[in-house]
Amino acid sequence: MYPDVQLYINGEWRDALAGKTIPVINPATEETIGQIAHAEKADLDMALEAAERGFKTWKETAPFERSKIMRRAADLLRERVDYIADIMTREQGKPLAQARMETLGAADTIDWFAEEARRTYGQVIPSRQADIQQLAIKTPVGPVAAFTPWNFPINQVVRKLSAALAAGCSIIVKAPEDTPAAPAELIRAYADAGVPAGVVNLVYGVPAEISEYLIPHPTVRKISFTGSTAVGKHLAALAGQHMKKATMELGGHAPAIVFEDADLDVAAKDLAAAKFRNAGQVCIAPTRFLVHESVYDAFIDKFVAAARDIKVGDGLEEGTTMGPMAHQRGLESLERFVNDAVEKGAKVRLGGKRREGKGFFFEPTILADVPMEARAMSEEPFGPLALIVPFSSYEQAVTEANRLPYGLAAYAYTRANATVTALGRDIESGMLTINHIGFGLPETPFGGMKDSGYGTEGGSEAIDAYLDTRFVTQAGR
Ligand code: NAD
Repeated sequence: MYPDVQLYINGEWRDALAGKTIPVINPATEETIGQIAHAEKADLDMALEAAERGFKTWKETAPFERSKIMRRAADLLRERVDYIADIMTREQGKPLAQARMETLGAADTIDWFAEEARRTYGQVIPSRQADIQQLAIKTPVGPVAAFTPWNFPINQVVRKLSAALAAGCSIIVKAPEDTPAAPAELIRAYADAGVPAGVVNLVYGVPAEISEYLIPHPTVRKISFTGSTAVGKHLAALAGQHMKKATMELGGHAPAIVFEDADLDVAAKDLAAAKFRNAGQVCIAPTRFLVHESVYDAFIDKFVAAARDIKVGDGLEEGTTMGPMAHQRGLESLERFVNDAVEKGAKVRLGGKRREGKGFFFEPTILADVPMEARAMSEEPFGPLALIVPFSSYEQAVTEANRLPYGLAAYAYTRANATVTALGRDIESGMLTINHIGFGLPETPFGGMKDSGYGTEGGSEAIDAYLDTRFVTQAGR
């Protein structure tokens, strides 16, 4: 049912040259379900050579042709959604319905970038002399190295891969070792759709070894990373040292502000769904719940009631709405965050512990009256943990919302127009969603501020990250 996963280099699926492999574990059962090929330097050298050649071919391929191949890949993903969702759930843990949504969403993302491929317009700039023509032209930046995490195995790859291909770049994807097979199926869809050899390459291995080798390598012209802020800062520094363009989509610690005039039923239901989706392993998940003191108890009761409806279990089982955490280290880290907060005085309103038996399951957990000194109030817990604290004024709520160096997402519920407008001005985050739960769609910007990173992976600007803007001036003589 679950495939062993090979490297994809220069248009061929292949084992690692040294034959090494890495086991894959199903987080719901803790069983080893497959093996992936473990690339080392010799494999990376092949991928680099392939990407260099692939770039020469692909940049000369008309955007119209690129777009057609990309649309075919999107259609293949849609055709294969049942199989892909099944393996994604086995390796990552998320409920099957969420794995299906992610796969179909990826097809939409490919379609969006396939359209963008045909619109990488430059400009004709009026010149100061009649016989001179000034052009700003966009050309692909070159081979890309992309590093992606395990929380959305396909979604995290598809944005980088599709933007790069739309622009005319080739790419080496270092996909997550924890969840390797679903991203490999995305690569397969592109391969089967007719992307020429060398344009797309896929490797796995020791992440730090691969990034330390690829980023400084002269073939690679652009880096894109999604993962923790600590690793992102390290890779951004390396990219800077070697003058490589970089996009960094890093951690978050989203505030969710519930004002005194909020619709509490809507806020509780929406925020519970957003908090516990993908077992809280979402960079934009609401984490610090700042609730006005006049509605504090009422909101907590409704929020706890909404979270109680979540059915935790194996993502393959009918009716499961929250799966296990994706790996043991995440589970153990979350346990430490919860214990630390409770020792410091937080009150457990729901959950608070891992589930007995096999699998990396943690109960949906709600802590109230969480003291500021609790580590989870400042470090990203990245799991099914909601931290609730009261506030008494708009200024206090905004100060707390902006307190951390993160600036990825923020949520607010209020019926007051003036508050809505003020929040748009005051909240420091790449995404602000008010009175509903917004998602990062292919057509909308998606990226962080401050320590949450830089660059956008959605919307009309996303493809620019893979293009150089050049000035050509020509005299008609
Ligand atoms: P991590 O940053 O160590 O790893 C995230 C991903 O990056 C993994 O897939 C890993 O293989 C890769 N990676 C790690 N070190 C690397 C390196 N030196 N070079 C290249 N790639 C590297 O984090 P983790 O322990 O897997 O997850 C925990 C934290 O990661 C979370 O608390 C969260 O902050 C962050 N995270 C963020 C996102 C996101 O969507 N922004 C996704 C997953 C994890």
